[in-house]
Parts: sequence; structure tokens; C-alpha cells
Amino acid sequence: EARENSQKHIAVFTFPFATHAAPLLSLVRKLSESTPDVKFYFFSTAKSNRLLFYKDDDFERVKPRSINTGLPEGYMPTRSNGSLFYKDDDFERVKPRSVNTGLPEGYMPTRVLPQEPVEYFLKTTPGNFKRAPLIDWFVLFHCTGLEEQTVDFLPGFSTIRAMDVPEGIISRSLDCPFATLMNKMGQMLPYASAIAINSFEEIDPIVVQTLKSRLSNFLNIGPFILRSPPTSDSDIYGIFDWLDQRPRSSVVYISFGNVITPPPHELEALAEALKACKFPFLLSFRGNVEEKFPKGFLERTRKKGLIVPWAPQLKIMAHPSVAVFVTHCGWNSVSESIIGGVPMICRPYFAEQKLNQRTVEHVWGFGIEVEGGKFTKNGAIKALQVILSSKKGKLMRKKIGVLKQLAFKAIDTDGSSTTNFNFLVDFISKR
Ligand code: UDP
Repeated sequence: EARENSQKHIAVFTFPFATHAAPLLSLVRKLSESTPDVKFYFFSTAKSNRLLFYKDDDFERVKPRSINTGLPEGYMPTRSNGSLFYKDDDFERVKPRSVNTGLPEGYMPTRVLPQEPVEYFLKTTPGNFKRAPLIDWFVLFHCTGLEEQTVDFLPGFSTIRAMDVPEGIISRSLDCPFATLMNKMGQMLPYASAIAINSFEEIDPIVVQTLKSRLSNFLNIGPFILRSPPTSDSDIYGIFDWLDQRPRSSVVYISFGNVITPPPHELEALAEALKACKFPFLLSFRGNVEEKFPKGFLERTRKKGLIVPWAPQLKIMAHPSVAVFVTHCGWNSVSESIIGGVPMICRPYFAEQKLNQRTVEHVWGFGIEVEGGKFTKNGAIKALQVILSSKKGKLMRKKIGVLKQLAFKAIDTDGSSTTNFNFLVDFISKR
């Protein structure tokens, strides 16, 4: 009892979609190993928590708390009006009062945040600075058709175009719920006492320095997966036997993360490209392959391709046979590519993926976007040839090799991410 009373309690709120919750939970579990007086409550949807807390008893001090979203069981969200996950009327249905947070009635957090808008000073013409909320600038870009313009008023973003910035930030108006969410999150960031992110300082020094100067305790503690790698060693699909039998640096690994299934015409184009070129391929694909891919694809490519419903990606990236990663550019996938030193062919879809792709190609230089931004047979073949059989591809492998070394150094005992992680542990313990 006495111990329970002296214990600190921390509520963790996750974005319960795509691959956001799992890495956050593994961070919290890692933190809990070093903070014995802290009990963490992990707030997410019941569905997301069910998938994550299958071994609940292992973590006495990290407990799931499920939020009732107010949506019917098994509800499938649709994509409309620029909102990624809910239709507007769904948001209507999820009225704040219908959300059961598990907190006592009338609970007020101890820290109340001020409500001032966060503004940027932007240089519009030489010598002329204008004050404007950042999001207004992105709305302006969109409304006036300047999506191709680079957003070089943001330090470190001189090669990023307005159109590469996630939907919801660049949007026609703030009427769309996702844009509002992003805007509010952006406004709150400067009031946070500490911000920990799943990246490492050496990857983007200008952006890191800028954010450090504007936010308190901006802590890069990643790549987090290196600190807490997945434990499962089972290989039920025989992937590693298969990889062992392929030549060194020959295999094309393809995965689009946990949310995206490319549209049928793009899958068909990709299938045609894989069939036409000589490289063996490993495809991780959630859906029904017979249904989604062209008729006969499975039979015709049986000898050179392996198709599985799930693949231990981090371990695959480390296999010497893997030569290129065809990906949607989710941040976890980009990080794992760096850890493995495997160059990327990018087909980004939404959220942060376009920003990642642009940075991978134009800042870090270890990947390329498929021609025209979508899979076509010729575009995919061309991209494969660039990475697997050209000088440019060799250079990309060299560049990603340098970042790989920096990533491992960052999580070394005296590396920047370890120092930041230890700071975070202290920060939590001492408050
Ligand atoms: N992943 C995996 N095996 C698969 C497909 C995905 O291990 O067959 C993992 C992958 O390693 C990564 C995550 O799922 O950690 C995908 O995250 P990402 O941020 O790239 O994409 P999202 O799922 O959020 O779209």
C-alpha cells in the first residue's frame, strides 16, 4: 500500500493507428526497466491494446488502459475530406463525453497549458518579416498552387517542397479534422517539458539544432529498435533458409508496412517488373495474393520469389543477400533500412512518407522514388536497375553505410542517443 502511494504514475497516450503504438510501448517498457518507482498507463484503443499486450504479466509497471472510442466494434474507417482515418460525421459521433478515458470524473491535469498561438517569423521579401502561424503558410501554398515551392524558410528543409509535407499540415483549410489535430499538436509542442523522438542527432544536424533551440529538452533517443529489438526468432515461412540460398546482394525485399496495400494497377505493374528482371524477390504482403496480383503471378514466379504474410524486417535488412528495399517509406521502415545499410526504392503514399522519401533521395541520397511517383512496369524496372546495377546505386549503398555507422554509434554506451535516453530516465525519475 505504502509503496503504491509513493509510486509515480505516468499516463502515456499513443496514436493508435499504423505502426505508432508498438515502438512507443517498447520505449515505455525500456524506460520502466530503469524507473522502478514509476507505473505507466498506456492509453490506446481496445483493439490496439489487445494486439500489443498479449503478454501482459511480463510488465508489472506498464499497464494497458483502453479508451472507448464510441465507435461500433469492428468499425472500418474511411478516407474522406483530407481526413486520414475518420469521416467528419465519425468525429461528430466521438464527442468528448462519450470517450471513456479511465480517469476519475472531473479529473484535471496538474499542468495547465497556456493557450497562446505559436507563431513563426517568416521572411517574405528581402528585409520584410511577417508573423504568421506556420500552418497558414502551408494553407497559402496549397491555395495558390505553390505546392512545388520548397519550404526553405524552415532551416534544414531547403529541398523539401510544400507538397512533400504531410497532409493535414498542407491543407486547404483547417476545417478538416486531421489538419486541426496536427495544428493543435504543433501549437502545444513548445510547452512540453521534454520531447523524445525516435531518431538520432547525427542524421539531420540542422533540423536537430533548430528544434533544440526552440523546444525544451529535445531528445533524439533512436533508432529505438536497436535498443529494444523484437525478440521473436521463429521463421515459420523459411525466409532465412531461402535468403541463405540467394547470391550476395541480389534480393529485392518489398513491404508496404502495416496499413498500405497499393492499388491493383500498381501491384500489377510491380509484378510485371519483378517477372521481367533477373533479381530474386521477397515480398511481405498482408492481403490475398491470388486476388490482388495478376492471375498466375504466384506460379510464374515461384522459382525466384518468396511471398509471405509477415517478415521479420529488421533481421531481413541485416541479411547479406538483401540488396534493395522497395517501400512506402514509413519512418520505422526508413530507420530499419539505415540499420541494415540497404538502399531504398520509394513509393510513398501519405502521412510522413513523402517527406521521408524526399529526404531519403535529396538530402541523405540513399534511395530513389519510382519514376512518376507511382509503380509502372518500366519505372519499377528502371529503379531496380539503378540501385542494383549502376554506379549511382553503389554510391547510395556507400552513403547509407555511413548513416548505418552513425546510427550504431548513437546507441553505443557513450553515444548521443544513449546520453539522451539516460537524461530522459533521470528526468522522469526526479520529477
Ligand atoms: N513490419 C515487419 N514485417 C512485415 C511488415 C512490417 O516487421 O512483414 C514492420 C517493420 O519492420 C516496421 C513496421 O512494421 O517496423 C512498419 O512501420 P512503418 O513506420 O514503416 O509503416 P506503417 O506500418 O506505420 O505504415
